[in-house]
Amino acid sequence: MSYYIPKSELEIRKHVDIANDCFFSNYANLEKVCEKKDKEEFIDKVILSGNYPKVLNDFVRTLYKKVEKDNLYNLATNLRTVKLERINPFVWLVADYSYGTYDSLKNVITYFNKNSIPHELLHLSSTANNSYSGFNVIKGGINFANGFNEGYTEMLAQKIFFNSVFTNSAYKTNVYLLRLFELLYDDPKELETAYFNADFENPIKKFLKYGSIEEFKFLIKHLDYFAKTSIWNDEENIIFELLIDKIEKTKEKQRVKKANDIYNEYIVAERGMVK
Ligand SMILES: [Zn+2]
Repeated sequence: MSYYIPKSELEIRKHVDIANDCFFSNYANLEKVCEKKDKEEFIDKVILSGNYPKVLNDFVRTLYKKVEKDNLYNLATNLRTVKLERINPFVWLVADYSYGTYDSLKNVITYFNKNSIPHELLHLSSTANNSYSGFNVIKGGINFANGFNEGYTEMLAQKIFFNSVFTNSAYKTNVYLLRLFELLYDDPKELETAYFNADFENPIKKFLKYGSIEEFKFLIKHLDYFAKTSIWNDEENIIFELLIDKIEKTKEKQRVKKANDIYNEYIVAERGMVK
């Protein structure tokens, strides 16, 4: 996905205005176009037909095995028309392309090698009506909550396709922070379901149980920023601490412990020191 990078004060203000707007608007609540049974039949039919680019076969099968069927409606819908393009290695070197992209408007995945497919396939699987993609809100040409979406997409890609080895991945800081965000949930599957159905309202409401809308906007803005830069920023600590504070408010000891473990793992892995 391409990024929106605010360049001036005015643009940043516009970014915030649109964010305000988005928080209270209706998200992509998927229309219940058909009964559950019809929906499942449709999903089975498309996926089992294998009638889509061959290179996706193994990855689609993995999703079919590991993700609740109810959450595969967007995958089935988009699989019918998806196009794949291989990134020319020479172009990639020169232009410093990311390893893959998913264009939700055109329903096109570009990939450098097979390893870049899981992440992009999740973007495809969470895109409804070519406009809402996972937790990404695209409005007025501005990509909002992209950092939240990328962090979750990469985290899920690792969980589903690489059996949760959190190594040298893209969007590293965001992945750590989304692992923390997930701890606000009693059942992480709730966040996963929201993702596959492009329902950003769910994480907003979850956060608001423990924090304010200003804090949420602060979090989203920083995640957007972290997704665009790999330069260490002191503000990363502030965001880790903000999320840990919210997890403490769940009063779930196990989750608080897990949150601190994740923070320490991040500090050791990324900063080479112990908190
Ligand atoms: Zn992405």
